[in-house]
Amino acid sequence: MAQRIQSPSSINTFKQCQRKYYYQYILKLAQKVPSIHLQRGKIVHEALEDLFKIDISNMDKEYYEFELKTLLQSLFKQKWTAEKKELDRIGMTPEQLEFYFRESLYMVNNWFRNFMKILGPKVEKEGLVEGFNHVKPKTEVYFLSEEHQVRGFIDAIHEIDGEVSLMDYKTSKREKMSPEYRLQLAIYALLYEEKYGKKPQLVGIDFLRHKQHYLDVDQDLVDFAKLECKFIQEQTISEDISDYSRKKTPLCNYCDFQDVCFGQKTMDEFIAENGPNR
Ligand code: SF4
Repeated sequence: MAQRIQSPSSINTFKQCQRKYYYQYILKLAQKVPSIHLQRGKIVHEALEDLFKIDISNMDKEYYEFELKTLLQSLFKQKWTAEKKELDRIGMTPEQLEFYFRESLYMVNNWFRNFMKILGPKVEKEGLVEGFNHVKPKTEVYFLSEEHQVRGFIDAIHEIDGEVSLMDYKTSKREKMSPEYRLQLAIYALLYEEKYGKKPQLVGIDFLRHKQHYLDVDQDLVDFAKLECKFIQEQTISEDISDYSRKKTPLCNYCDFQDVCFGQKTMDEFIAENGPNR
């Protein structure tokens, strides 16, 4: 069969549990109601992305920090309101939703504080428009590697003073560069190098409620990504469920496919309840 295009998520899912990979990427079973974490992550990402689409030339240098912050908060609130239907589907109480709204707004404000540490000095030195354009990243950039059969969306590509850094935004509580994040970033470095013929200097996770954590990009990191891409292609040729083992861990409690995996529902019942395959 044709190779399947992989992604950092699909590879990390395979490493977490092969059976979950089978349900999600081979059978393409519909996933259940979106979690608050996925939903608010989407909202925050979109607000940050839209901030960089603005025309800064209409702002006054004296008040730009206040105006930018107000605009970002307003974008976040608009996105939150636009997603109300999806947020309601999660089934949280109004108090719980309010908690996540405030927590997400805190992250947006924290990101802005960190961003101003980069933007502020540039604006002082180069002026508002030049300074903003200098630090403005490219956002939500899609990459596909035909050679390694992997793809990914990079949240932000910064090119400041000749140094390229690829960033992924995370709303997670823990501020830790996990093996999963390292793999994701290694794949981004690989995708960037293949497209532009040079490595980025840095890849990193922007832990929105904390700060950025970076990894230097070297040949070892890119080679690691290549090996992982090769490994998953070799391991996922079969479409037979028995070739995808179950890995029971506490994460099963958060798995969308738990009912069908543990036989509490038949596949037909699961599909009837959650909708057709994607
Ligand atoms: S319930 Fe557990 S074992 Fe089953 S697919 Fe999900 S993660 Fe894997």
